[in-house]
Amino acid sequence: MVETTQAALKVGPSTMDFREMEVPEIGPDAALLKVEVAGVCGTDVSQYRLPLRGSPIIMGHENVGYIASAGKQFMARKGVQEGDLVFLEHYLPCGNCEWDHMGEYRHCTATDWFYDDHAIRYGYTSIETAPALWGGFSQYLYLAPNAIIHKVPDGVTPEEAGTATPMANGVQWALFEGGVTYSSIVLIQGPGQQGMCCIMASKHAGADCIIVTGTSKDGTRLEVAKAMGADYVININDEDPLERIMEITGGQGIDVSVDCTVGSGTAPTLLGIEAAKRRGATLVVQGEDGEFPNFPIGRMTRKYITLKSARGHSYKSVEVGLHQIASRRFPLDLMTTHSFGLSEVDYAIKSVTGEGAPGAIHVSVYPWR
Ligand SMILES: [Zn+2]
Ligand SMILES: [Zn+2]
Repeated sequence: MVETTQAALKVGPSTMDFREMEVPEIGPDAALLKVEVAGVCGTDVSQYRLPLRGSPIIMGHENVGYIASAGKQFMARKGVQEGDLVFLEHYLPCGNCEWDHMGEYRHCTATDWFYDDHAIRYGYTSIETAPALWGGFSQYLYLAPNAIIHKVPDGVTPEEAGTATPMANGVQWALFEGGVTYSSIVLIQGPGQQGMCCIMASKHAGADCIIVTGTSKDGTRLEVAKAMGADYVININDEDPLERIMEITGGQGIDVSVDCTVGSGTAPTLLGIEAAKRRGATLVVQGEDGEFPNFPIGRMTRKYITLKSARGHSYKSVEVGLHQIASRRFPLDLMTTHSFGLSEVDYAIKSVTGEGAPGAIHVSVYPWR
């Protein structure tokens, strides 16, 4: 019986501390996850900088691990056994609302901390909420009765499964929201981990032409983007992206644009609108707080453009994402550039923005290292 776990805790803005935490008794409807890999993403970067909402938090919301111990009810309800390798979604849904019944947990208010301060989800919940172990930057994590887990396909390693979150996002944003399919012309803006996964999903779905934009800082990333299936890459500091897109597409423009830039303001949306085909393109956008003066709604509606939001993933997109990883069709190892132990969590988070290790695309924490 496991009694304690080593955990990294966010104790203040951009401040980590390390503690030995007590592992709770596991009831019949719950389980304990031995965390193998906890992915780090752009959300961690912004979350880490914020003041604490209350007590410290064990961050880490992209988690893969083995079921260390589980109650009978938990195993029966989830269809898993002790020793199974699983991917854990970060949502902790209420289980009763219409969204949960559809597998669209991301929209459940009970787990949406944008709307509700009491909402809980993995990687964002204070240790004040019992039993405290709500994050993957810890050797063990509490699997609540309403945890959403996916069995990792046979043959897929924990390291590979560690990319399940961005892969699910790639599937969700490019295919399910953007509608990328056989013969699509796709613009993916930003060659970070989310952008890479949008490339892979689009390629796998049969897109005719994948164009990826980045900046002068993205030299290596743009090379990796090509290895993942990008047909053309554009460094927007060197070339006018709109001119280049029109040149590549013979003046046709794109069918789908996915914004995977972080904090680029209004530019990706404006480029998407200008680069869209005359009729019927879909733009998948990401927002931050901020103004959008002179939004070209006339151009958008005349081109019959659909605007959709990139907002997390569904149960289905995780399943497809895991399937995609298991296909071994793409050189995932080019994306999984950095991994760190628990004591280096601070550096791991900073590496995502380029303030830590150089050249990072996908960064993971291995709590047992
Ligand atoms: Zn994330
Ligand atoms: Zn719900």
